[in-house]
Amino acid sequence: RGLKKHFILGGGFLGGKTSRVRAVENMSFDVPEGASVGLVGESGCGKSTVSRAVLRLVEPDEGTVTFNGTDVRAASPAQMRKLRQKMQFIFQDPYSSLNTRRTIRQTLEEPLKVHRMGSPAERRERVEAILPEVGLPQEALDRYPHEFSGGQRQRIGIARALVLEPELVVADEPVSALDVSVQAQILRLLDDLRQRRTLSFLFVSHDLGVIRHFCDVTCVMYLGHLIEYGPTEEILDDPAHPYTMLLRESSPVPDPTSRIANAKMTGEIPSPANPPTGCPFHTRCPRATPECKEVMPKMKEIAPGRQVACHLY
Ligand code: SF4
Ligand code: MG
Repeated sequence: RGLKKHFILGGGFLGGKTSRVRAVENMSFDVPEGASVGLVGESGCGKSTVSRAVLRLVEPDEGTVTFNGTDVRAASPAQMRKLRQKMQFIFQDPYSSLNTRRTIRQTLEEPLKVHRMGSPAERRERVEAILPEVGLPQEALDRYPHEFSGGQRQRIGIARALVLEPELVVADEPVSALDVSVQAQILRLLDDLRQRRTLSFLFVSHDLGVIRHFCDVTCVMYLGHLIEYGPTEEILDDPAHPYTMLLRESSPVPDPTSRIANAKMTGEIPSPANPPTGCPFHTRCPRATPECKEVMPKMKEIAPGRQVACHLY
């Protein structure tokens, strides 16, 4: 609720000018149990910052994060350790997120040790049981990350997140570093896992095809603001916000397995260090009016479960 995060850049010992980057402004949304919620928008819109703030990998300036009734930001270190077991992160780059000097067995056992889960024998069993779930052979356990392809490494990253049996998985662009054919395999794997376990997802992507495939509900972000929210199909088939309309036009193919290069949206994204007044999208919006330059539109419900922040509604 009300998440806000600004970063201060520059300054330092050279005495340069600092600037305030308004990464996230007033973001509120829910991730219902068992649902997959997408955060979509162009790069720099704040979606990664939101996803990290949920797990306290970055500390928001304002706002609250509540997980199963627990205030995440107020959690003590001991409570936080328990929460972290239940909320796991899958990173974009499966390679840099794995320790190259550790075997896969060591990599997968590490979180269990950190969270003091099970005896050594139980940990071993758990690690061995997770491999077939992510489609890797047992031989993988005694090998090192460099011996695997990008897709296999992401399977290892997924296994590392799942070995703790989390309830919420936050995935930041988990397939965007992979070849298109491999993307589809990893998305299918995540789908399977979601059905087999009761997992909720917060799924960050700039790719509407991926979002359509994976997310029940979608939050569209622009310059740190939530600008449209609702069931994914409705939002992508019948977008209400002019930005969502343009985003959809610039990525016309709805299936990640047959994707062609995305066309670019016209006009520059304003800098989050110097955001426009009024509606953040007014500098690129084909339907902007004088009011849009002055007044920030509020989120309004336009249909059950659908919200949009735009003066047209
Ligand atoms: Fe466009 Fe105005 Fe709506 Fe913003 S509020 S999206 S500028 S029409
Ligand atoms: Mg990002």
